[in-house]
Amino acid sequence: MRARLLSLLVTAAVASLGAQAAVTDAMIDNDAKTPADILSNGLGPQGQRHSSLKQITRENIGRLAPVWAFSFGGEKQRGQEAQPMIHDGRMFVTASYSRIYALDVKTGKRLWKYEHRLPDGIMPCCDVINRGAALYDNLVIFCTLDAQLVALDQKTGDVVWKEKIDDYSAGYSYTAAPLIAGGLLLTGVSGGEFGVVGRVEARNPRTGEMVWSRPVVEGHMGYRYDKDGKQIENGVSGTPGKSWPGDLWKTGGAATWLGGTYDPKTGLAYFGTGNPSPWNSHLRKGDNLYSCSTVAIDVKTGKIVWHYQNTPNDGWDFDGVNEFVTFEDGGRVLGAKADRNGFFYVNDAKTGQLVNAFPFVKKLTWATGIDLKTGRPNYVPENRPGDPTKGADGKKGEVVFSAPSFLGGKNQMPMAYSPETKLFYVPANEWGMEIWNEPITYKKGAAYLGAGFTIKTLGDGPIGSLRAVDPKSGKIVWEVSNDAPLWGGVLTTAGNLVFWGTPEGYLKAADAKTGEVVWQFQTGSGVVAPPVTWDQNGEQWVAVVSGWGGAVPLWGGDVAKKVNYLEQGGMVWVFRLMK
Ligand code: CA
Ligand code: CA
Repeated sequence: MRARLLSLLVTAAVASLGAQAAVTDAMIDNDAKTPADILSNGLGPQGQRHSSLKQITRENIGRLAPVWAFSFGGEKQRGQEAQPMIHDGRMFVTASYSRIYALDVKTGKRLWKYEHRLPDGIMPCCDVINRGAALYDNLVIFCTLDAQLVALDQKTGDVVWKEKIDDYSAGYSYTAAPLIAGGLLLTGVSGGEFGVVGRVEARNPRTGEMVWSRPVVEGHMGYRYDKDGKQIENGVSGTPGKSWPGDLWKTGGAATWLGGTYDPKTGLAYFGTGNPSPWNSHLRKGDNLYSCSTVAIDVKTGKIVWHYQNTPNDGWDFDGVNEFVTFEDGGRVLGAKADRNGFFYVNDAKTGQLVNAFPFVKKLTWATGIDLKTGRPNYVPENRPGDPTKGADGKKGEVVFSAPSFLGGKNQMPMAYSPETKLFYVPANEWGMEIWNEPITYKKGAAYLGAGFTIKTLGDGPIGSLRAVDPKSGKIVWEVSNDAPLWGGVLTTAGNLVFWGTPEGYLKAADAKTGEVVWQFQTGSGVVAPPVTWDQNGEQWVAVVSGWGGAVPLWGGDVAKKVNYLEQGGMVWVFRLMK
């Protein structure tokens, strides 16, 4: 009798643990409202990166100090751009070279690690980084530099399923965190500099089986898949031949390399798309849909409901991949995006209608503004890089100076939104480039740019600036400048604080209303990842990954030289208020 009772109790305990451990769609949809865990990239699929926690304030933040730190170890360091996930006593965090770790969230003790075996021929454009994982049911799922998806058991780290996204030898890779939306696992592709075809794919997160695929280059066929995996046509994206000349759409780029956001209120997933391929815009007369756009996809059908193109016929590598962060304004759901091209856009999240657009950087050469009626930029034609066939020798087009540089007014580092201050906090950079076009033909697995460039500083002053942006007035309410370009993301809290990291190694916090810096901590290497916060048994804890790298040291020209003293690393830091 006693043994039976014990066994019943054990069964009940296991059942309740199991129920707690399984991550459901409802838990992910409500992630922003449950501060005891972090189940999505963006602290909520809407991507606001805002926490309702208010234990840490400007008054007590002087007591914020490390609880533990963990090294990714090995000889492999390089850029660390991941957002940690927190669930059921574990932290899941990805690292450079397609590695993932499960740590005891209380102590930092390593529970397991998985190192993906990478082939020699991978072609990541912008460092061997990874931006994080997705959680679903009992799985943790991440993407790899050789364009694969790996799902592991959260408890053991055992591989449950593995699927190939595409052929790495054709330039495909994937580094963004997967997105869970409406019971599906949504991923994109990286490889916009290799003439890949951008798309969004939906899979069954439990098995990896494909459900639908939606190309974001106009002219390509979308598909859905039945229970047996049979491919069924699901409508062409756009109108073939309309916005692309000749066959260029076949290798049109528009890589969806930064992943997406999702708002359960609209049922739409929002993916940003990268540059059209190749970079030389004179070869591709037309808008080149859906490159450099926000594309809203109905997750139930896999169809494009609306698109808004930030940079039609892009000639500057102004990838439009930046996150579309939804927020409420009265009864309306809006979405905001701080684009690489230097403009901040606000669109209706249901229809795509442009509501507002204004610059969030100070120097902008390629357009004088965005026409709010037509939604199109007012171009400065003489500041578009020249046609190489019209150059003196037919080999090099006119060199132009452009600001922002292709590294962007903002790049991969996610901004945050505070429903309390109603401000967006944008990690911005002020820099320019010399850029010119050259002849190019597509060759599988080779860089497909047709352009040359040098990144330039705009003077001796600071390059980075964390800016509090009012989406209504278009005003920069405050800013905190930074010598090196900002490359990490932002977090806001109901404690009226904004957290962000710098390449100089600091995790900083400022008053969300005034921008006064109230705390900083030196992590020992550059921070190029977004901080997170959660409720750890009644205490507010903060974490960030540290490890300098990413695109700047590789492609940054004069800026890379300016910051070449920065050291690489690979650490997770966790903080709490000391008594
Ligand atoms: Ca949560
Ligand atoms: Ca690009």
